[in-house]
Amino acid sequence: MNKSSIYGLTFDQLEAWLLPHGYKTFWAQKLWNWLYRERVADFDAMTDMKPECLALLKEHFVMHTLTEHIKQESADGTVKFLFKLTDGNLIETVMMRHKFGLSVCVTTQVGCNIGCSFCASGLLKKTRDLTSGEIVEQIMNVQRALDEAGNGEKVSHIVVMGIGEPFDNFTNLMDFLNVVMNQKGLEIAGRHITVSTSGLADKIYEFTDSKVPVNLAISLHAPNNELRTQIMKINKAIPLEKLMDAVDYYLENTNRRITFEYILLKDVNDRPQDALELAELIGHKKQYVNLIPYNPVDEHGQYQRSTPDAIMAFYDTLKKKGLNCVVRQEHGTDIDAACGQLRSKQIQKAQ
Ligand code: SAH
Ligand code: SF4
Repeated sequence: MNKSSIYGLTFDQLEAWLLPHGYKTFWAQKLWNWLYRERVADFDAMTDMKPECLALLKEHFVMHTLTEHIKQESADGTVKFLFKLTDGNLIETVMMRHKFGLSVCVTTQVGCNIGCSFCASGLLKKTRDLTSGEIVEQIMNVQRALDEAGNGEKVSHIVVMGIGEPFDNFTNLMDFLNVVMNQKGLEIAGRHITVSTSGLADKIYEFTDSKVPVNLAISLHAPNNELRTQIMKINKAIPLEKLMDAVDYYLENTNRRITFEYILLKDVNDRPQDALELAELIGHKKQYVNLIPYNPVDEHGQYQRSTPDAIMAFYDTLKKKGLNCVVRQEHGTDIDAACGQLRSKQIQKAQ
């Protein structure tokens, strides 16, 4: 039997697991402290835990289900990790340095079934969902690498924008968020966490109702159904009308803005009329717009990156219409940093 990761349990789940074994809340708190505050790499380093308790934990859980396979460092401080899971699958995690802090982009699935036409992750169908422990361990591995470097750096932001569709792995995503936000542990503020979805409307309602106080980003990428269906086939099943109803529900029931992501593809969705139509569609909503320069993917040769002039013109149009718009700063372009690129290249090499 494969033992599961201790990092997969929320505090409440850990407490509930320990209690029937005779260990009260006090012990759950101690353990949690070793895991998330001391951040030791081994159960045996938890010096003030009872040996019987550690033996019990070791019998049922492990602390490492990820091993570092490849680590690439970019000139701009971005670090990309390729982790191997216990079943041999590979996943990507990216750490980025910003003026405002240090963010980690996590993966939620092995592959992705949404299959957007511009994305490297969608090239490989979903093999399985990641467990909550495998998602939390991505953060812990990065944080431990920072701890070892000894500069006192701490992961302050999380973006759930790696491989996979987080809302297609909803329960594990929610447990992950619960763990990393817990004030007794890593204590990463919800306002510093963003979950990105390709637009699974049902889950947007569920996410809103859960009241988990983290930011939501929608991969919009087109201002009308025809164009969106052309580049994201999910739009056939969940057209813009349905998606925008769910977005409005989110906005009505939270105090937050929503972020719309928009990849700029040369002559596909970057024309002036696209910008005007986009402003028409979302201009009246409480929004941020992230314009993303397309990161070329070898297998998607039909797409090119928009010219700098087209990007600026698109940006200007949205600004003039009063939208809160930024062009996303790029990180680690020298190290295959676009979503899923390193993984898909490694897998091709191996085949
Ligand atoms: N599946 C979720 C989250 C992961 S993708 C989603 O689609 O939202 C995270 C972001 O990376 C999405 O906005 C996605 O559209 C974008 N992305 C995918 N491929 C890209 C590429 N080649 N260049 C730039 N951004 C890309
Ligand atoms: Fe999946 Fe997101 Fe890539 Fe689309 S953009 S294939 S939803 S990971």
